[in-house]
Amino acid sequence: MGMHRGTWRNRARTSWLAALALLALHICAFASAANAPAALRLTPGDSRFSLSPSLTYWHDTQARADVTQAFRRAEAGLFAPLPDGNPAFGFQTGAYWFYLPIENAQPDEPRWLLVQEYALSDTLDLYLRYPDGHIEHQVGGDHVPFEDRFVRYRHPNFRIDLPAGQRVELLLRVQSESSMQVPLVLYSPKAFAELMRDAQFSNGLYYGIVLALLCYNLVLWLMLRDAGHFWYLLHTAAFGLVLFTLNGYGFEYLWPNSPWLADVSVPLSICLALIGMQLFSRSFLDLPKRWPAGNLACLCLVGFFALLGLASLWLPYSVATPIASRAVLVGIIWIITASLVMMRRGYQPARLFLLAWALFLAGVTAFTLLAFGLVPQNFWTQNGVQVGSALELLLLSLALGRRYAGLREENIRIVQDANERLERGLIDRTRELRTTMAQLGEANVQLREYSRRDPLTGLFNRRHFHESLTQWLHAQDGQNRPLALLLLDLDHFKQINDTYGHLAGDDCLNAAARCLEEVARKHAGLAARFGGEEFVLVLPGADAQTALQVAESVRLRIQQTCVENHGQRIPLSTSIGVHTVSPGQTILPETVIRLADEALYRAKREGRNCVRHSISVA
Ligand code: GH3
Ligand code: MG
Ligand code: MG
Repeated sequence: MGMHRGTWRNRARTSWLAALALLALHICAFASAANAPAALRLTPGDSRFSLSPSLTYWHDTQARADVTQAFRRAEAGLFAPLPDGNPAFGFQTGAYWFYLPIENAQPDEPRWLLVQEYALSDTLDLYLRYPDGHIEHQVGGDHVPFEDRFVRYRHPNFRIDLPAGQRVELLLRVQSESSMQVPLVLYSPKAFAELMRDAQFSNGLYYGIVLALLCYNLVLWLMLRDAGHFWYLLHTAAFGLVLFTLNGYGFEYLWPNSPWLADVSVPLSICLALIGMQLFSRSFLDLPKRWPAGNLACLCLVGFFALLGLASLWLPYSVATPIASRAVLVGIIWIITASLVMMRRGYQPARLFLLAWALFLAGVTAFTLLAFGLVPQNFWTQNGVQVGSALELLLLSLALGRRYAGLREENIRIVQDANERLERGLIDRTRELRTTMAQLGEANVQLREYSRRDPLTGLFNRRHFHESLTQWLHAQDGQNRPLALLLLDLDHFKQINDTYGHLAGDDCLNAAARCLEEVARKHAGLAARFGGEEFVLVLPGADAQTALQVAESVRLRIQQTCVENHGQRIPLSTSIGVHTVSPGQTILPETVIRLADEALYRAKREGRNCVRHSISVA
């Protein structure tokens, strides 16, 4: 009985415990039913479901929990809804778990695709628990080779089998050094194909524009070798690379097997784009020449970006990327400041430049406002960065072209100015040269005249007399004209010098010269000083008789010439020897002079102050 009672008591206690346990279980079940998220129903008619509104999460700060523990926490209702339904948490340590049960109410659509619409997460572990308790595990993220993706698409994606009417629990673990962004979307195969088609088209269009601008400016740079085009190329290429990387194309096409590059490429390409952007602006705004202080600031920024880029190769991704992202803002603010300064300084090309960057900023702002839910989602806000940057790159290319055209016009103007100056200079030089030549010609004429004249008397000199006589005698050949030569020697001239002085002697020489000059002019002849106090008179056309008459008149004129010295008249006379060349006679000038001289000698011998004719040899 005791045993019976004991047994009963035992039984009673057992049933009590069982009742309590049942109650506890019920309470637990009630509690979990209250906290655990309701299953997402894939209602018929929809083919795209964003998970964010119904998703719950847990931040495993130590990243220690395994899948069993995570499922248990989720069931116990210890996962929280996303703050404001926003799946972005910024840069975080540890692991994030996301949980959501799903019920497929579309019998025709048993297969779905889960896409994480953010390309840069490192590792994703997806667990699907089916009602029979079995768990399916898939991995993703850019620390897993690209080839392993279910669909080879720029965003991580997973195949999900959802048998109709069954409740399937979805648990996703995300660990990443990049920003913790987990926008999860469930697509039917058809919806996904359409998404890919649209994305492929708009992205293809964008990168097509970037590539075309790159090629166009590359060709321009190769032909023009203008530094502005080179820096534009660097800026555009690096900026294109940034978006290419952020969109997940870098991992897809450029480094599908390098998780290291997938991480490093983000801060590195941002730094490169910043450097390109600054150097392009510096060259475009002509800072080195027009604003040295701005140029220095720009170079300091470039130095900082270069150091940051180098450091990002070693720094953890979660440190380098936020700094690089903030540096973009600094870079853009600086460029806008520099453009405004250059505009105020009257640099015309700065206006289009500023407009280009303003468009880019507008695009980025639209995208940011969308991220904060302040503007409605449409094509322009969603693709703000792409649209803004495409317009910016186009406008910059245009601005570059205009600036180049401006430079060319300025060059042409400078060359024209230089040509005009050169031409004016040339005209001046030519005029000067002409004047100099004329002066030189005059000087030459004068010099020739001097070389023919005797400096004291101004009569022709002996050399010119000799040349003229030679010419006359030459011309005499075959001509029916005679020619006479009178050789004169002043009488006792030494004595005149001795008596009256040399200056008075010079006066006498001049007086005789004037007399001879007059006679020569009268007879179209030539008077010259032969030497010392000796003169010659050539009379073309004069025969012996005329010559003797002229000689006689000359002798008389000289005798009558009045040269005074201190009130005293100087007695002046001359002896004259004459020789006449007959018409057509060939004779050397020396012979004519010798014969005239012999006649003169005779005149001297026979008393001076008289005229003698040479004794004819003919
Ligand atoms: P003659 O009647 O025989 O000719 O005697 P002359 O004194 O004239 O002869 P001579 O040939 O011995 O003297 C010539 C002089 O003429 C000598 C020289 O002093 C002088 N004489 C030569 N050239 C010049 C000159 O340029 N000026 C002056 N004042 N005298 C000159
Ligand atoms: Mg003499
Ligand atoms: Mg004499």
